[in-house]
Amino acid sequence: MMIFGFLFGRWSILFLSIKFSLMATPSPSMSLPSDADLRRLIHFSVGDGRIWLAGQRMLLMHTAGLANLRTELIRTVGIPHTRRVFMRAGFASGERDAALAREVRPHATVFEAFAVGPQLHMLEGAVQVTPLRFEFDQEGGHYLGIYRWDQSWEVDAHLRDFGPSSEPVCWMLLGYASGYTSAFFGRRAYYKEVNCRACGGDHCLTEGRFEHEWPDREALAEDYVADSMLRHLGDLRSQIDTLRNEIEAEDESGPLVGSSATFHSALDLLKKAAPTRVAVLLTGETGVGKERFARTLHRMSPRADKPFIAVNCAALPGELIESELFGVEKGAYTGATGTRPGRFERADGGTLLLDEMGELSLPAQAKLLRVLQTGEVERLGGTQTIKVDVRVIAATHVDLVAAVEAGRFRSDLFYRLSVYPIRVPPLRDRQDDIEALATYLLQYFSARHDKRIAGFTDLALDTMRHYPWPGNVRELENLIERGVILAGSGQSIDAPLLFPTLPKGAFNTVNPHGKLEHAGSDLLASIFDLTIHSGLGLSALEDGLIQESVRRSGGNLAAAARELGLTRPQLAYRLQRLQSIADPQA
Ligand SMILES: [Zn+2]
Repeated sequence: MMIFGFLFGRWSILFLSIKFSLMATPSPSMSLPSDADLRRLIHFSVGDGRIWLAGQRMLLMHTAGLANLRTELIRTVGIPHTRRVFMRAGFASGERDAALAREVRPHATVFEAFAVGPQLHMLEGAVQVTPLRFEFDQEGGHYLGIYRWDQSWEVDAHLRDFGPSSEPVCWMLLGYASGYTSAFFGRRAYYKEVNCRACGGDHCLTEGRFEHEWPDREALAEDYVADSMLRHLGDLRSQIDTLRNEIEAEDESGPLVGSSATFHSALDLLKKAAPTRVAVLLTGETGVGKERFARTLHRMSPRADKPFIAVNCAALPGELIESELFGVEKGAYTGATGTRPGRFERADGGTLLLDEMGELSLPAQAKLLRVLQTGEVERLGGTQTIKVDVRVIAATHVDLVAAVEAGRFRSDLFYRLSVYPIRVPPLRDRQDDIEALATYLLQYFSARHDKRIAGFTDLALDTMRHYPWPGNVRELENLIERGVILAGSGQSIDAPLLFPTLPKGAFNTVNPHGKLEHAGSDLLASIFDLTIHSGLGLSALEDGLIQESVRRSGGNLAAAARELGLTRPQLAYRLQRLQSIADPQA
């Protein structure tokens, strides 16, 4: 076994054929060669904004700038991720400098050639390096380097912004040494700080070895995996999206506004359920505000200071809903890149709203039932059960009873969820609430879009009261938000801004005396135009209306007469006349 020991400076190369064991105590006289050859490689390229180190473009920057970046990263993503980012950045520059070593000192000893790294590290202003021990055995695959570091810029930066540390902080320096040594020898090497000045003492002490010589090599290698930071940022981004959705929903949900009788009877039921643990099922058409009711129930409950989590079962594809609800372990399926808790776990202690419950697949229903029965969840791909205390509120716009009959919904789950059903009324049944709701939404959206709006015109309010609202409160919200955006600053929102697609004749109008009246004349004008253009004529129109009315009522003359605003005998008389025209012989 051939071992090179570089112990006592450039002239003290030992060739030993036995296992090297002389360096129990580091020698203080182990010195570096002159760095004049390296200093000659630095060129300030006048006039074109570049600095060169041989063929590498360099940057002379303030350590304060880099320190600032380091501190900001620590505060944003935390120490473990910042550490790795700096280690990898250091690794990349170490690799570059290693390429120079062989070029610059082609005929030098291994130690002298290797010393290019520590010496460039010093020239570049990162740290003062004193080699204490250098062992390299090509055939045996052995490397051990022990270095003393003084003046580490990272220690200075860390102490300035964070004070003394319990962990070593010379991340970029360690990365540099690892990258340099790996590239220099052509095999992976890692360094550790045995002591860091940031933890006490007056200098840092580092030790480097080849990868296979470290017992904890896997943990060391993990620091240089490039995507760990990106993965972390990806996770953070999806968490932020979820939180933002929840916060926005919270804002928009606002208070429950209304004073109509139908609304109040639903609200009373909600108030009585709030202090209990009863399973509430919210039913009602799409857009009636079931989520708003659920949030109000949560806020009135003893769980108010715990999380409220909402899941829309219809918005997630079948294969995702289970991981979303119950969580997932890393590697449970292709694409499960990290372990993630489900909504049940996140709602622990609080309330979970399962919206559009009727859309849940049968396998997911079975799992949900088990969670409700046992109070325990198991993540996808996991083996452990996790105890959760969650109040579940189910909401649906479909008829679950019919879904049970059709076999699309489990009856046992239905009975568990529907102990206490509350029907949230559609907006058309809450006509008295429309003005209050519209006014609340106008204030909300004016603030949100930073606009000053005077209010609604009477025509707008009247049209809103008579509109059937198939999309319920959500439709009202959408129309008012659009109205706020379209209305001029300081103006009132008028009906055509809210309902641009309704025909002109559908709006009431203000007559020349300033009174509000229904635009009947517009409607008649339309019918007149239609009659003329169709070539029907008045008699044919009247006959056609009568026949259509009788046909629709299924021959029930009394009903048809009511529809047309006639008495039954009046209708009978006209029908008779019609028939005599059609069949003159009768
Ligand atoms: Zn240190």
